[in-house]
This record gives sequence, structure tokens and C-alpha cells, in this order.
Amino acid sequence: MYKCSKESLGALLSAINEKYALYVPKKHGEGSVSSFEAYGDGENMYLSGITDRGIKELFFPQCEEIARFVTANGAFGVKETAVKSGYNVIFGARACDIKGLQTLDLVFLAEPEDRLYKSRREAGIVVSLSCGEPSETCFCTCFGVDPSKSGDIAAIGTDGAYYFEILTEKGRLLIPELSSVCKTTDDDIEAERDKIRAKAALMPAALAAKDLPDKKTDELFDLPVWDKLSAHCLGCGTCTYLCPTCQCYDIKDSKTADGAARCRFWDSCMYSDFTKMSAGQPRLTQKERYRQRFMHKLVYFKENQGIYGCVGCGRCVRKCPASAHMIKVIKELGKADERHT
Ligand code: SF4
Ligand code: SF4
Repeated sequence: MYKCSKESLGALLSAINEKYALYVPKKHGEGSVSSFEAYGDGENMYLSGITDRGIKELFFPQCEEIARFVTANGAFGVKETAVKSGYNVIFGARACDIKGLQTLDLVFLAEPEDRLYKSRREAGIVVSLSCGEPSETCFCTCFGVDPSKSGDIAAIGTDGAYYFEILTEKGRLLIPELSSVCKTTDDDIEAERDKIRAKAALMPAALAAKDLPDKKTDELFDLPVWDKLSAHCLGCGTCTYLCPTCQCYDIKDSKTADGAARCRFWDSCMYSDFTKMSAGQPRLTQKERYRQRFMHKLVYFKENQGIYGCVGCGRCVRKCPASAHMIKVIKELGKADERHT
């Protein structure tokens, strides 16, 4: 375990930034969107809460070119987007976002592996920061997330210091930088961690969502409550774009000077043209689209992959303009549980 004073954090991050591309949480003023951006010496970081945009986009960008089709002298060729070399470091990730990566792994690292995502996962060294001040919309503990310990290195802030515990082999790559600024210590921080876990478990959202529905598709799919839950959904897609586990994308080709570029970009199951095919649209109403999103996270993903497709980050709770969010769904489906038993 390594320990540095709170004042020394900048020196540690600067040391890391000298060797690696470093991303940290930032917020540019009141009311602006917080997200992970490249570290700059002396710049303010946003460490007091969870960011509006998570770390997902560092592994699965909102828009990226995946290939180019080139014609030259009558010949046709395909150039796949090159994978960047070298490690990146992400400092200050929250445990829910890191759990979100586990969900993305199940999709993008299954055969056939997504080579761009895989390369970023292999290159990404994630340093978590414990949630000393969880938001009242956080409910990560309902999904078994430990808000005090996660990632390749787990950082925890106490009153005057930061502690760093290396959890993986990849995390060991930062030993030279940690050693240059921190001291090694045998301090026992389990009590601090227990406090963080207990506080997160008592957040209003965590209490509201503690009884997750444990029902099968056919027991929940036709419940009348979906009409009420989806009635105000605007189909704006905000919940999907901010969600650390949503992974749907579309692919489009566009013309370039010497051929065409193939790009993929995030899509949303809340949109009326999502997965539209020549045969038509499989989900004709917003109710069907809304039900699909929440059933996928609470039922289908668990049935198929063994874990929920929600990590309780609370972003959809905070940002849905219609207040048609996950907590409401869990509570209503919980009542449905009672009706079925
Ligand atoms: S549930 Fe809320 S955030 Fe999601 S699409 Fe509907 S209105 Fe938008
Ligand atoms: S469904 Fe909502 S609370 Fe759950 S992981 Fe996605 S954005 Fe976070």
C-alpha cells in the first residue's frame, strides 16, 4: 500500500503524465458537463462526485472510424483503423463505471472480439477513487459494487491523505511513479472502506432499489405497469448515452476523396429508427422501446450473461428529463413481484 498527502496528488499525477497519457475527471464551471479529459498540470479536477459522462467513452468512443475503403489506379483496398500503442492511465474512476466495463467486456470481448475495444482495454490502467460522498441517486451497492475498492489500483481519500492499493498486475506498472511520490505503509484502512460501503448502501436510491425484481421475462413482459412507466418517455436517448453499460451502435459509410470511411457511433434503443430494417421497425411504440431498455438491463442480460445490465450509477435518475428512470422501474416491478406471490 502507498500513501501520499493530499497536497502531493498533483506531483503523483504529473509523474504519471510524464510517461503515460493520463485522463482525469474535470468539470469546467458550474452547470457544465463533467467528464474524463486529458490531465494538465495545475488544472482543477472534479473529484467530489461521479462525473456526468463516465469512462465508457475512453474504451468505446461515441464516434470512431473503424475502416477505410480506398480506390487507387483501379484497385480497391480496405484499411482497418490502426490500434494505438502504449498504456493510458485513467485516474479517479468510480467503481460503478469500472463494473460497467465488465458488462461491456461480455459483449465486445466475446467472439468475434472487437479489436479496437480490446486494444483499449488492454492498454487502460484504471485507478479508482473511492466514493467518499455518494450521491443520493447512487445505488451501486444493489448490484454488488464495492464503492471503496475497484480497478487496477484502488485509491481512497481520507482526511489528509490518499492511499493506493495495487489490485492487478497492470496496476504494478505504476509502482515507479507511486514510489517517486508516496511512502509505503501498513496503515489499516479497512474501517475507512467499511464507512464508505455503509454510507453508499444508505443512499435514498439504494434503499429504494434494494429489492431488485427476480422474475423471468414472461412474468414481467406483459405487465400493465409498462404503460404508466413509459407514458412520459420522450425517446431522447439521454439515459442510453450516459449509461456506462449501454453498448449499442450503428455503422455508416461516408464518401472521402479517395473512397469511403466506415464509422460507428453510439445508437439508442429508445429511438424510433433503432434497428429499422427493410421489413420495418420491430418496436413500433415508445412503450415497446422503453420496456426493451429496462427489461434488457434487469432481465435479459442477467438471463444471458449472469449479471445485471445496470450498475446503479444513477445517471439516468439524475438526467432523464421525464423522470422515467431505473429506480421507478425497479420499484414498480417490485410491486409486480408482490402481486405475483
Ligand atoms: S427514459 Fe428519460 S432519458 Fe431515457 S429516452 Fe425516455 S425521456 Fe429520455
Ligand atoms: S440504467 Fe441508469 S442507473 Fe443503471 S447503469 Fe445505466 S444509467 Fe446507470
